Amino acid sequence: MEGFHDGPMIAAAEHWRARDLAVLWHPCTQMREHPDVLPLVPIARGEGAWLVGRDGRRYLDAVSSWWTNLFGHAEPRIAHAIATQAMTLEQVILAGFSHQPAVELAEKLLAIAPRQADREPLAKVFYADNGSAGVEVALKMAFHWFRNRGEDRRTKFVALENGYHGETIGALSVGDIPLYRRVYAPLLAEALFAPSPDSYAAAPGETAHDCAERAADGLRDLLARHAGEICALILEPRVQCAGGMRMHDPQYLRRVRELCDAHGVFLIADEIAVGFGRTGTLFACEQAGVQPDLLCLSKGLTGGFLPLAAVLCTQALYDGFLDDSRERAFLHSHSYTGNPLACAAALASLAIFESDDVLARNCTTAARMTALAAPLVELPHVADVRQAGMIMAFELTQGGDKRTPFDSSMRVGLRAYRAALERGVVLRPLGDTLYWMPPYCIDDEQLELLASVTRDAILEATACA
Ligand SMILES: *Cc1c(COP(=O)(O)O)cnc(C)c1O
Repeated sequence: MEGFHDGPMIAAAEHWRARDLAVLWHPCTQMREHPDVLPLVPIARGEGAWLVGRDGRRYLDAVSSWWTNLFGHAEPRIAHAIATQAMTLEQVILAGFSHQPAVELAEKLLAIAPRQADREPLAKVFYADNGSAGVEVALKMAFHWFRNRGEDRRTKFVALENGYHGETIGALSVGDIPLYRRVYAPLLAEALFAPSPDSYAAAPGETAHDCAERAADGLRDLLARHAGEICALILEPRVQCAGGMRMHDPQYLRRVRELCDAHGVFLIADEIAVGFGRTGTLFACEQAGVQPDLLCLSKGLTGGFLPLAAVLCTQALYDGFLDDSRERAFLHSHSYTGNPLACAAALASLAIFESDDVLARNCTTAARMTALAAPLVELPHVADVRQAGMIMAFELTQGGDKRTPFDSSMRVGLRAYRAALERGVVLRPLGDTLYWMPPYCIDDEQLELLASVTRDAILEATACA
């Protein structure tokens, strides 16, 4: 069909690939694998759930461009809001100055943030400019609050095994993914790791609820052993995304809330990946009826258009920094903190949630995903199919059961990635975990393509096994 253009367009793609590799160092990539092991795909534009390559090929973006995009690429309402804002006020220092999008977005975020009836609601918003920076803010705030009270022994953070919170040194300190962490270990701050509530790791006969209780008991013991030494606990509610889309029962979050309260430890919910409807509810904490003391948001915050992070905190935490001394203030800053363009994009994105009744539509889409994914569990190397709202994950193993993972040297995930890409779908497995985290505009026809390509990619990637 596109044959007429193929020659020149393939040449154009080749041209951009060469220019790219001459100058760019890509994120999260062993550059030696380009271009022979890993194809490099120059993209010309985005249209809804599609990415359109320089060679004219279309790719269904089943990973929402690293979990950022919510409503499809180049969504016109968000694009328009950014353009309008750019012609009004593109950037202003946020220390000592204020602007409408920053104020309105803070008001909106506080109004929609998770609530727990017996707690004072989240009351203040601090902006940063990417997810890792937001995590740094939350960690520093929690630590500094105790310093300001003279509780100098509270210097440690608790995080979860298999958790992920970003790549900067502080965020990496509370992450537990060896591939990202190990080499930098000598540089990292001290953190204590509590057992993951991951229900994939359930022992035979154990339910997801049992896993949650068992992990919470482990946390209880850890907090007791380190009483008075811990300032905050950080976790990804409901789904440990970078850790392989590992999911847990909301009961875990209820137990964590109680344990943090019992020990006077701040609870930091990192909803950078799971926020804004990914798990079905607007925020994942809602599924447990739990309100954190600090809430980190980024990725989908701007609908996937611009980098921005927001850290929401309680009035009590904020009040702990009010003092005559400047040193007791939170002197953290980033140059682009609260950038007006990013705030305008976020406001436009939140308006779409309301005008398009996005969460209700997602319920239908998620049910469709359930139906399309179900048959894949029958494939010989699929050990698990699991879902949390708009996230679906497929675990590939040698024996099709949990006990026999593939040897990582087989690079089954990479094979699946390439097989899907050849068929026009962007799946980007985490190890041997394939997953769908599509833009919310994905339609039935695109979902059917996604399911059939996933099936073919699994079969091709595991054919050697
Ligand atoms: C992606 C991610 C981060 C880091 O965000 P960046 O914008 O990539 O720095 C932090 N926490 C979680 C849970 C994430 O998924």
